[in-house]
Amino acid sequence: MSGRNTSDLQVLCSAGRLFLQPLWDRLRTWEALTQSPFFPAIFSITTYVGFCLPFVALDFLCPWVPALRRYKIHPNFWPTARQLLPCLGQTLYQHLVFVLPVTLFGWTRGRALLPSEAPELLQLVCHVVLCLLLFDAEFFLWHVLHHKVPWLYRTFHKRHHENSPSFALATQYMSVWELFSLGFFDMVNVMLLECHPLTVLVFHVFNIWLSVEDHSGYDFPWSTHRLVPFGWYGGVAHHDLHHSQFNCNFAPYFTHWDKLLGTLRSSQAK
Ligand SMILES: [Zn+2]
Ligand SMILES: [Zn+2]
Repeated sequence: MSGRNTSDLQVLCSAGRLFLQPLWDRLRTWEALTQSPFFPAIFSITTYVGFCLPFVALDFLCPWVPALRRYKIHPNFWPTARQLLPCLGQTLYQHLVFVLPVTLFGWTRGRALLPSEAPELLQLVCHVVLCLLLFDAEFFLWHVLHHKVPWLYRTFHKRHHENSPSFALATQYMSVWELFSLGFFDMVNVMLLECHPLTVLVFHVFNIWLSVEDHSGYDFPWSTHRLVPFGWYGGVAHHDLHHSQFNCNFAPYFTHWDKLLGTLRSSQAK
């Protein structure tokens, strides 16, 4: 019986790999681009700005389309150009002056050859979920520490709280130390788990999307916290409360750490 279960699992795993293989084969034809020293910084900035732009467009339409405001956490707030441009400018500046040199240095230390086989679908999903859970725990600790120690808050984290209510382009409005801490947590887990390069790519895209959604100010019926059951995921409503109240909802995504520490607050409770 257990032999049959094992072979069933093997069939399922190889089906999952077959499912991803065409995508992985296509990505490998772009190896010259993905292995270029500029790729990590360009990928990071284009994915981030690409995810922000739809929300910028919605904020632009908000004054003329009242129906949009029912999805806004703060219905009468939309960022002005004087708020948007410094955020965008700082993100571009930090990527050019800090992120690019670090990724170039990493590139000079050599790059691993891309494997010819795609990862199994189940393994990819498990690794992405594990990476998100680990990232959530690491940033929770960092975040609590940078709120509880006044010097750390003033020196490193205060800048991220300058935009309240939050908006999509304010996601990466932060000090260089905070940006590198997030980048470190983003990278260290995929290295610890020895994730497949395709898994790393999927995790980065997910992580950037979830962080932008957290700050977007829009609570849609399809927002991630409405798709994950049992209130396990806090998302945009929870992070918005963190930006306005400072002393709650320190975890960026999930709710279990704040529940354990007694710092979880829900928008309904407000
Ligand atoms: Zn934030
Ligand atoms: Zn904070």
